[in-house]
Amino acid sequence: MNITVIGAGYVGLVTGACFAELGNHVTCVDINKERIDLLKTGVLPIYEPGLDTLVVTNIEAGRLEFATTLNELTVEPRIIFIAVGTPSDETGSADMRYVLEAARNIGATLKNDCIIVDKSTVPVGMADQVKYCIQQELDRRGISIVFDVVSNPEFLREGAAINDFMQPDRIILGHTSEHAKAIMLELYTPILRSNPEKIYFMNVKDAEMTKYAANAMLATKISFMNEMSVLCERLGVDIENVRIGIGSDSRIGSSFIFPGCGYGGSCFPKDVKALIKIAEENNIDPVVLRAVEERNYQQKFILPNKARQLFGDDLSDIKIGVWGLSFKPGTDDMREASSLVLLQQLIAHRATVQAYDPVSMPMAKHILPPEWFHSGRIILSEHQYDAVKEVDALILVTEWKPFCYPDLALMKKLMRRYIVLDGRNQYDPQHMKEAEFEYYGIGRGQ
Ligand code: NAD
Repeated sequence: MNITVIGAGYVGLVTGACFAELGNHVTCVDINKERIDLLKTGVLPIYEPGLDTLVVTNIEAGRLEFATTLNELTVEPRIIFIAVGTPSDETGSADMRYVLEAARNIGATLKNDCIIVDKSTVPVGMADQVKYCIQQELDRRGISIVFDVVSNPEFLREGAAINDFMQPDRIILGHTSEHAKAIMLELYTPILRSNPEKIYFMNVKDAEMTKYAANAMLATKISFMNEMSVLCERLGVDIENVRIGIGSDSRIGSSFIFPGCGYGGSCFPKDVKALIKIAEENNIDPVVLRAVEERNYQQKFILPNKARQLFGDDLSDIKIGVWGLSFKPGTDDMREASSLVLLQQLIAHRATVQAYDPVSMPMAKHILPPEWFHSGRIILSEHQYDAVKEVDALILVTEWKPFCYPDLALMKKLMRRYIVLDGRNQYDPQHMKEAEFEYYGIGRGQ
């Protein structure tokens, strides 16, 4: 099948590369020329495990192409995916300008009957607006083309995106015509072969809402556990035992109940915000969602506040090592990462920071304020153990695997003071104590 994917970011690129891998001809279109130029040479602008091989193999096989505009397509698509960003606008609503721009471009260039697929996370009713925009452009051109707009939200997790795409828990498909349903089913057949019941058909608005509800539910689980961790700490209770205790209840389940220093990323924060706005615009008071967001906001201050409790408000003479900058392991994505709040707070209180992340250092160089580097307030270390040289404390923010079993003996040789603040409860407090570290986790009852 000929497919076009508009937007070559984390979702668009994975979608394009995976469908190409399944034998389709795919063109990924992105307005970011720098990004497309890199991709044409087989260089990835983002980090996602396994994606580089998939992209290069499919470029070489002639199944994957890249372009900056829809005018450059060499073949007419049967399906066009919209996978552009939907960030928060200044009010917290999902900013639809990229989706609508993509829709206008489709209407301005479409030549044949086609299925348009909203893969971006969009508010309920957006498919109708996309349809309206495309139709307006077709009317302007005075041509008649039959097209359907379907909703097919994406549930992949950065860091495990290829596996999630190829072996999804479910595929949600909101459609209004049997024709669109049949074509989408044909497209997904190779993915569904071992599990045909994993596709759920529904109407378009239900599909749009399913995506928001899924992310809001996951964010709620995290914020709930984070709130429990704060309470546990005050009561002298170990949240990790509580987590294991409640996770064994099949009604609760063990996933997404790990307490920590807050959720980040390109999805949960903006999607919870957008859902709050959607509720408010419809005269519903989103009390649960607001609490989820507020808890997450507060949670991101736990580590810097703990550092200030230990060292005082003026951190001028304090050097802190930070392990992990990405919002979670397996990605270079730092959007809304907890590390950003930590760094901002430490530097605002005049600390010096030595940070290390296995893959996010180029991203950090790109997005952190240049004055932090010029003033020497932050140094990006070459190696995880360089980041702990002469530090007064190590703060673990992202639970990358290389941080799981640190060389404590080496750390004691390098660190000025043996203090560890563990934002993801990676270490055993007893073990750390035996190794003569002053250890602070999240809700460990100290
Ligand atoms: P991203 O920011 O990584 O990529 C978006 C890309 O779209 C950018 O490269 C941008 O240049 C491009 N773009 C913007 N306007 C364009 C236009 N008019 N024409 C062509 N390209 C255009 O975004 P992402 O993380 O891939 O997310 C895309 C959508 O998928 C969002 O709605 C997001 O909420 C949703 N989503 C993301 C994830 C995730 O883990 N990142 C998971 C599920 C769903």
